[in-house]
Amino acid sequence: MLVRAPVYMPLLSIERFLLQKSAWLQQKITEQAQNRQIPPLVFAEGVPIYYLGEVKTIAIKYAMNKAVKVCNEQLEITLSYRQQKKLTTSEQLHQAIKTYLASFFKRQLEYYLSTRLPVLSEQIGLYPTANKVRFYKSRWGSCNNRGELQFNYLLMMLPTWVIDYVIIHELCHLQYLNHSKEFWSLVHRHCINTDNAKKWLKQHQHILSWPA
Ligand SMILES: [Zn+2]
Repeated sequence: MLVRAPVYMPLLSIERFLLQKSAWLQQKITEQAQNRQIPPLVFAEGVPIYYLGEVKTIAIKYAMNKAVKVCNEQLEITLSYRQQKKLTTSEQLHQAIKTYLASFFKRQLEYYLSTRLPVLSEQIGLYPTANKVRFYKSRWGSCNNRGELQFNYLLMMLPTWVIDYVIIHELCHLQYLNHSKEFWSLVHRHCINTDNAKKWLKQHQHILSWPA
């Protein structure tokens, strides 16, 4: 952190000022960090992206076969040499990464749901007739009157405890197809993280928008 102070200000008073303002400063630093995590306008090398609630940096590689590798700090996207030949503009690269990330997120969420949905269904005692993973522009999931649940594959950007809240929320719609008091009390009964998850989603609403 860099502190700018007037040259005539004695060091001691700078320190005292920082100490007094440290909570405020910490808050400002956090806010700035969050502002930096605005969704990317394009997918490219070095661009930040959320994966399971953690911010990763996109790293692009080329090899014989396509792959996505989740590392500590990076989301390593390997495109094929065949693709590389056709990618001449940054717009084309952006679209290639977007398409590939979408299919990766879709597969990952389908796998997560295949293990987690039966457990949560059992716990609540509500069973969907079908479930599907797709893209939604501005929602995480949905439930219709035929008992079918649909989930947004961008859920893979959320921490698992928030994904679980979304799953429980949609499962509870199998009993109440509204947001009544009864609905919310059912959600709260089965998800102790409800309030925190709603808060997390509100704070991270901006990551829901993906570049066009
Ligand atoms: Zn709802």
